[in-house]
Amino acid sequence: MVFCRGCGKQLHETAHACPHCGAPNQAVGSKSRITAAVLAFFLGWFGAHKFYLGKAGQGILYLLFFWTGIPAIIAFVEFIIYLCNSDADFARKYG
Ligand SMILES: [Zn+2]
Repeated sequence: MVFCRGCGKQLHETAHACPHCGAPNQAVGSKSRITAAVLAFFLGWFGAHKFYLGKAGQGILYLLFFWTGIPAIIAFVEFIIYLCNSDADFARKYG
């Protein structure tokens, strides 16, 4: 269960809107910051976190240039950025 940002009552995390006040459920459709960070750390060299975040175009660039080693460096920087963002910041940028 998650808490409604509108009225503070509990609603199921898969609910698209709060049944009490109608506010949209922010948890739906947003990507997990930790999952993206883990993907960037372990599989970032081929852009797994980019595919996960729906940025397939960037993910393909990582795949094309993975042999240079540069995507691995960028992915490590992004891993740190993901960890430094709050969940709210992350949801606003990537959710
Ligand atoms: Zn509500």
